[in-house]
Amino acid sequence: MQVHESTIVATPADLRIDGARLWDSLMQLAQIGATDKGGVCRLALTELDRQARELFIAWAKEIGCSVRVDAIGNIFVRRAGLRDDLPPVMTGSHIDTQPTGGKFDGNYGVLAGLEVLRTLADANVQTVAPLEVAVWTNEEGSRFVPVMMGSGVFAGAFTLEHALAQRDREGVSVRDALTAIGYAGESGKPHTVGAYFEAHIEQGPVLEAHDKTIGVVQGALGQRWYDVTVHGMEAHAGPTPMELRRDALLVAADLIHAVNRIALDHAPHGRGTVGWLDVHPNSRNVIPGRVTLTVDLRAADDTTLTAMDAALRATCSTASEKNGIAVDVEQVVYFPPQPFAAELVGAVKQGADRLGLSSMDVISGAGHDAVYLARVAPAAMIFVPCKDGISHNEIEDARADHLEAGCNVLLQAMLDAALKLGSAPA
Ligand SMILES: [Zn+2]
Repeated sequence: MQVHESTIVATPADLRIDGARLWDSLMQLAQIGATDKGGVCRLALTELDRQARELFIAWAKEIGCSVRVDAIGNIFVRRAGLRDDLPPVMTGSHIDTQPTGGKFDGNYGVLAGLEVLRTLADANVQTVAPLEVAVWTNEEGSRFVPVMMGSGVFAGAFTLEHALAQRDREGVSVRDALTAIGYAGESGKPHTVGAYFEAHIEQGPVLEAHDKTIGVVQGALGQRWYDVTVHGMEAHAGPTPMELRRDALLVAADLIHAVNRIALDHAPHGRGTVGWLDVHPNSRNVIPGRVTLTVDLRAADDTTLTAMDAALRATCSTASEKNGIAVDVEQVVYFPPQPFAAELVGAVKQGADRLGLSSMDVISGAGHDAVYLARVAPAAMIFVPCKDGISHNEIEDARADHLEAGCNVLLQAMLDAALKLGSAPA
């Protein structure tokens, strides 16, 4: 057999991924941890996670990729470049899921990356810069906290030691879980990344509502999470007249409305959610004496997020004065808004245009591994629609033609980036 090795001088606009092969691989991977309702339960660093990792690595080796595992269990499969000293163009995502997760969240980004490498292998296309596909450990944060653990360590958001010491509800540490499944890899400084792309289902309803195939992700919303505690006074529900009560839940109810209003006041990207309540003593005939609620505020820029933070704190202190009870506000998480690299975002848009695909600019409301990668490398994301915008649910679904389209955009964008990196002086 004669092999023609063509070096890329321009991104071949006619090169296409194999959509059926991508779909088949997604369905095969989804068998590992498959649930009765058609979803996937594959928690991080479990036996099922190990099986999924093995399958992915076997697929990567079939096309001649080398494999490396780092100390937090991130997997990097690599297709060598002509100038292998150049920092790689990387893509990737995660293959751990929520307990009632779907087939596409994370898995799509990993297998779209693999499909790009398979397509290049089939076509004997050699890139100048090397290409890598990463599988990031414990993105979901369901078994171990913090979320986006592997990419967080890689990007230096927190230390390896901090991550390894975290424990699940059974008391098993990340360190022991990694060793148990054989994925405690080499330690050492994370390698330099030339460019990072991540394809992902949107996990929201915007693309579907606008009937667009490709979401050109401009960045990710910043987030502030709080624990708010309202201190009232428990008393008997019968003998205590209404005007003499200090009902913590009643004040909390006002706060829930206020959080919603704060988000609406900061349209279009402001978000405000109270997702969890703890009512004490939570008894039918006792006036609630203490309520703790979680508040999740998000915005596209820090000025807005700061204004929302101020509004929340003002609301809480007004509620405290008006009702004569203490309201404590404690911020527990802060993720700054993360804009993506203009050049890479442009490559995604260009890829969609070149392929004749409908697209629109979107912003990611959720955290993703790409958000951490953006701290250490130019990064961008490609969203494709998912059915009814539903994710983190066993019924999560996406159309094969949309997944194929997003993967083709990924191919174009990665080749563009590899070409740019390759044209830098040696
Ligand atoms: Zn995900």
